[in-house]
Amino acid sequence: MKTIDIIGAGIAGLTMAIALEQKGFKTRVFEQTESIKPLGAGIILANNAMQVYKALGIQKTIEEKGNYISSLNITNTNLKALSKINLASFEHKFGVKNIAIHRGILQQILMNQLPSYSLKLNHKLEKITKTSNGHTLDFKTGKTIQSSTLIAADGLNSIVRQQLFSQTNIRNAKQICWRGTTDYSLPIKYQHELNEAWGKSDRFGFVQIAKNKVYWYALKSYKRNKKELDLNNIKNYFSEYSTIIQDIISSTNKEQIHTADISDLNPNNHWYKENVCLIGDAAHAITPNMGQGACQAIEDAYTLSECLTKYQKNIAFKEFQNLRLKKVLQLVKKSWIIGKIAHLSNPFLISLRNKIIKLTPASINKKQFNQIFKVSHL
Ligand SMILES: Cc1cc2nc3c(=O)[nH]c(=O)nc-3n(C[C@H](O)[C@H](O)[C@H](O)COP(=O)(O)OP(=O)(O)OC[C@H]3O[C@@H](n4cnc5c(N)ncnc54)[C@H](O)[C@@H]3O)c2cc1C
Repeated sequence: MKTIDIIGAGIAGLTMAIALEQKGFKTRVFEQTESIKPLGAGIILANNAMQVYKALGIQKTIEEKGNYISSLNITNTNLKALSKINLASFEHKFGVKNIAIHRGILQQILMNQLPSYSLKLNHKLEKITKTSNGHTLDFKTGKTIQSSTLIAADGLNSIVRQQLFSQTNIRNAKQICWRGTTDYSLPIKYQHELNEAWGKSDRFGFVQIAKNKVYWYALKSYKRNKKELDLNNIKNYFSEYSTIIQDIISSTNKEQIHTADISDLNPNNHWYKENVCLIGDAAHAITPNMGQGACQAIEDAYTLSECLTKYQKNIAFKEFQNLRLKKVLQLVKKSWIIGKIAHLSNPFLISLRNKIIKLTPASINKKQFNQIFKVSHL
């Protein structure tokens, strides 16, 4: 049986290993952390990601543990809709729903799919060196392993990308994101919707991930330095937003709010080299403005597993990039622009933006989502 090595047990690495094991490969997934600790946040698995999980046989488990979302809404600060994307037609067309779920629960579901030999925790890759028939992997523990086929799913700051590939710039969007989950009972009308309220240089999104459990995220721009923003002031930053939003913030244990800088990878087409292929954020990190980063990583995993089943690895990697590149780079670019538009600060431009969003015909939004939800190979 052919062994394929994977660096990183995030959503990309775990999904990659599941897809490969199902196709008869043996996998070794090397993860730097000692245990997979759940981040106190949720995630939205859009229709395209759920199609992949359906093909991998885990759709039902994810649906049972999460909450379906049938409408994606952009609103003003008072939760008045500027645009509403009804997902019913996509649910019908592709046979799956968009699911909001706690990240920790998703990670557990994915790990449960793997055979016990696959996941190798406490394996931080420090050095990768080319040999005549593959690569030598040197881990922090002093262990050394030979690898003939390597998939790097080690995220935005990928050490594999840094050591083997030409430099790709990380772009900082100058936005801070706070994420949290809270025990909160949303009014019924919001229970199967994602609502993202846009204000002035900031926005707030919330979604139910299980009964009486809400995941929320709040983003705010800074001018020069992220130290301009302080989590202790979060209630003040969103004091002009709807009382529901203020209640969600107040009900959250501050100790469990996660803070992240928003960045992506400058669009590039260097995803593979000899025996090594990058997937997920390691290849094409996307700003979270379209909720597609993990979904694209999941699509990568499935497509690459199909290519490795059909072709020798060097052809498989090339074919994988051919199949995925156009869609992914369009999303990276679009998502970056949406992040800028969402954080306008000029009142005139904000008013113009909101009018344009309201006037955008549903058919245009529908066409766009159709392209996002269509998965090659499914
Ligand atoms: C605020 C926010 C909200 C988001 N919301 C959504 C959403 O709703 N839907 C969506 O689809 N996407 C969303 N995303 C994007 C999504 O989180 C990422 O695209 C996704 O997690 C990337 O998965 P990955 O496995 O490629 O990388 P990562 O999640 O970064 O995983 C990389 C793994 O590799 C390990 N690793 C790193 N270096 C090493 C090393 N040297 N040796 C061994 N292991 C290593 C890490 O510990 C980690 O486990 C969001 C992102 C942000 C910032």
